[in-house]
Amino acid sequence: MSKKITIVGAGIVGVATACFLRRDGHDVTVVTADPPGEYCSFGNAGMLNSAGCVPQSLPGVLAKVPGYLADPLGPLVVRWSYMPRAAPWMLRFLACATEKQAERASLALYSLIRSTLDDYDLLARHAGCSDLIRKSGYLVVYERERGYRDDALAWKLRRDRGVAMEELDTAGIRRLMPQLAPHYERGVYLPEQGYVANPERLTKTLAAQFQKDGGAILQRKVLDIEVNENGVQALATDAGRLPVETLVVCAGVHSGELTAKLGEPVPIEAERGYHVTYSDPALKLPMPVHVSDAKVFVTPMEMGPRIAGQAEFAGIYAQPNYQRAEVLETHMRRMFPQVRTADGTRWMGKRPSMPDSLPVVGPSAKHRNVYYAFGHGHLGLCGGAPTGRLIADLVAGRSPATDLAPFRVSRF
Ligand SMILES: Cc1cc2nc3c(=O)[nH]c(=O)nc-3n(C[C@H](O)[C@H](O)[C@H](O)COP(=O)(O)OP(=O)(O)OC[C@H]3O[C@@H](n4cnc5c(N)ncnc54)[C@H](O)[C@@H]3O)c2cc1C
Repeated sequence: MSKKITIVGAGIVGVATACFLRRDGHDVTVVTADPPGEYCSFGNAGMLNSAGCVPQSLPGVLAKVPGYLADPLGPLVVRWSYMPRAAPWMLRFLACATEKQAERASLALYSLIRSTLDDYDLLARHAGCSDLIRKSGYLVVYERERGYRDDALAWKLRRDRGVAMEELDTAGIRRLMPQLAPHYERGVYLPEQGYVANPERLTKTLAAQFQKDGGAILQRKVLDIEVNENGVQALATDAGRLPVETLVVCAGVHSGELTAKLGEPVPIEAERGYHVTYSDPALKLPMPVHVSDAKVFVTPMEMGPRIAGQAEFAGIYAQPNYQRAEVLETHMRRMFPQVRTADGTRWMGKRPSMPDSLPVVGPSAKHRNVYYAFGHGHLGLCGGAPTGRLIADLVAGRSPATDLAPFRVSRF
């Protein structure tokens, strides 16, 4: 039966969810403060990797933190003035750093993202942007063999999930990526993974197709939510009241502000990352490459290679600190000494991160007409289309192919 559905958010999660719900014939309206694909989904590293089935919080993470914070080129920064606000989230994050929890989270993540390439294929073919989905595989490299050994648990989790991989020595790395500097001792090639060559264009093209298919997109900010004993009734927006029959919250890092209004607070944190994209770098990469020690990805986007990474805790509303992008540029020159860096454009985005590295996907525990789809952290692009498919299954009363229990909102 066709329903009237309102989605808050037009990042990749909201747009993919809108596409899947519209395919089922529902009357779908997306309400978004920013135009489609112009918030966190604008500038990510583009990875569509089921090999991302490794939670951020792993045993030993606490011991690594002081080194990360002390290293000016390190991947982690906490603005000290924000520390008291971030502390509860960080304590929860650290509490997840056990082997048992890592295994649980890995199983759940893999069950969510394993279909990412197929789900995007379906949406992109319909929208005429299949050229953006590239199944090239990707390369992970380590400067020292020891770094690879330190990541043993992450590789075990991937191997146990059945992720295909080939180990490489320095010569093997050179064969796959001749322009990469020769100082990487160890590599792993993951042949079955892919990427999106322009995450912004993907989100905008899917959104445009959704509109062609009869969906509506309203650019408005949701300020409040009207609720009574029958569930959510309406959204109060900066352009007036919008009645609601069924609501899906896909508001990225702002989702916590909305769930709090619905009496379901969640521990969500802005894990701010940066990118630099080069339009004329004299570099042609056959596939993305991840330097695991530095936690950066370099992806061959259609507009030029992009280096992305960093995790900065400073809250949702603090201004970007583009020194973090300079750190990325330093890594870029170390990886590709011949790179021309004159024309790099910089960007900061806010990953919507949960302390257990798992998004919230599923029905509200309190309101009969509300669903949640947010908190995908480092995997929001990868998880966007699969999440949209699952939400459409739930709304249609089909039983979802993924067990959604690990993603329930009431787990906190
Ligand atoms: C540097 C970096 C690299 C990354 N690399 C990858 C990667 O390679 N692969 C991957 O899978 N993920 C990656 N990510 C993560 C990924 O980008 C995010 O998880 C994803 O973009 C989140 O999508 P979203 O739709 O949930 O939120 P967003 O894209 O942030 O969209 C949120 C939407 O909600 C709207 N909104 C918010 N509040 C309101 C309100 N009150 N009223 C109305 N609308 C509202 C916004 O306007 C926006 O449209 C990376 C992130 C960063 C920062």
